[in-house]
Amino acid sequence: MKTTVKFTPSKKLLDLPTYIFAELDEWKAVARANGADLIDLGMGNPDGATPEPILQAAIKSIQNPANHGYPSFKGKEEFRIEISNWMKRKYNVDINPEDEIQTLIGAKEGLAHLAMAYTNPGDINIVPDPYYPVLSRGTWISNGDVYHVKLKEENSFLPNFDEIPVEIAQKAKIFFVNYPNNPTSAIETKEFYIELVDFCTKYNILLCTDLAYGEICYDGYRPPSIFEIDGAKDIAIEFHSFSKTFNMAGWRIGWACGNKDIVKTLCAMKSNIDYGTTAIIQDAAIEALRIDDCHVKKIVDKYQDRRDFMIEGFNKLGWNLKKTLSTMYLWLKVPQGYTSRDWCKYVMDTAEVVFTPGLAFGRYSDDYFRVSLVAPDDRLKEALARLEKYNIKFQ
Ligand SMILES: *Cc1c(COP(=O)(O)O)cnc(C)c1O
Repeated sequence: MKTTVKFTPSKKLLDLPTYIFAELDEWKAVARANGADLIDLGMGNPDGATPEPILQAAIKSIQNPANHGYPSFKGKEEFRIEISNWMKRKYNVDINPEDEIQTLIGAKEGLAHLAMAYTNPGDINIVPDPYYPVLSRGTWISNGDVYHVKLKEENSFLPNFDEIPVEIAQKAKIFFVNYPNNPTSAIETKEFYIELVDFCTKYNILLCTDLAYGEICYDGYRPPSIFEIDGAKDIAIEFHSFSKTFNMAGWRIGWACGNKDIVKTLCAMKSNIDYGTTAIIQDAAIEALRIDDCHVKKIVDKYQDRRDFMIEGFNKLGWNLKKTLSTMYLWLKVPQGYTSRDWCKYVMDTAEVVFTPGLAFGRYSDDYFRVSLVAPDDRLKEALARLEKYNIKFQ
C-alpha cells in the first residue's frame, strides 16, 4: 500500500511574497473554463516571431557537433566579441570581451544570481518600487532585506536620493535599477545616471542596471548605457536581454557586462549551478547582433503604432497619458475606490480584458495598473471597444 508523503518546501521559498502573476493565471484559467474570450494584456511576452536570419543561424548551428557538448561558462569567444562590438556601436563604450562579459540564460537568471553572489543574510539591497519582480526576489532568496525607495510620478518615476536614509546607504550592498522601466515606462537621463554613479561610489554600493528595453524606444529616443558615465566601470554591471529586442523571449539568452571582478563573481556563482547557454542559441544570438537594424526597427515600429493607438483610446476614456518613449507598457492610474487587484478583477469579469495590478510590482504601486501592448491590432481595438461598451473609464 502506498503511503502519502508530504514534503515541505523550504522556509525560504514559503516566505517569499506570493507571485501575483500566479494568482492572475488562476483567474484567467477560471474565466476561460467558463467560456470567456479573454484579451490578455497582462503579461510582457512579445507576440511576434524571431527574425528569419536568426532562425537560419540556429538551424545551421544545430548541425555542428562542436555545439553539442557543454558550452563554456562565460560564453563563446565569438559571441563575447560580437557583444563588445555592439556596445561600441550602440553606446560608444569599450567592453573587453575577455573578462568584462558574462553570457546568461536570460537576464532574469543573471539578476537573481548576482544578488545571490553578493548578499549575506541581513544585508540590505536597494530596489526602487515599482520593480520587475526578480530585482527583489534574488535578495530575499539570499535572506537579505530590500529597501524600497518609492518612485513617484511627479519625479518622472526616478528615485530621489534624498529619500534614502544615510544608515541605509551606508549598509547597502547592491543598488538595482531598471531603465527604461518596466512597468512605468519611465526613462533614464544621463544626469540621473551621473547622480546614481556618484551615490553608489560615495557609499561603496555595487550598481546593477537592467537595460532590457535598450532597443524598444520610440520617436528617436536612445537610452544611455551606464558605462557612458565616468567611473561606472569601477562599480557597475549592466544586464542586456535578447527577449524584447529580437522577439527571442523563449530562447533564453542575455548577457551582463561591466566591472571585471563583478563579472567574475557572477560567473563563479553560476558555475555552481548551470553550464551556461547552449552553443546553438549563442550562434543564433551572434546573428541577432549582426543583422541589419531594419529587423529591430520593424518590431519597434509595431509597438510604436500600438502605443499611439492605445494612448489615444485610453485618453478618450478619461485617462491622461503622455506619449511614452520606451517599453511596450502603459502605466495607468486605478480609478478611485478600487485597489489595483479589485480593479483588474472587475475589468476582467466585465470586459474580459486582462491587465496587471500594480501590486504585482511592489507594495507602493497599488494605485496603478499595467497594460502590455502585446496583442495584435484587432484585439487591441476590440479591448478598447469593450471598455467603452461597459463604461470602464477613469473618473
Ligand atoms: C523582460 C525583462 C527582462 C528580460 O529578461 P530575460 O530573462 O532576458 O528574458 C529583464 N528585465 C526586465 C525589467 C524585463 O522586463
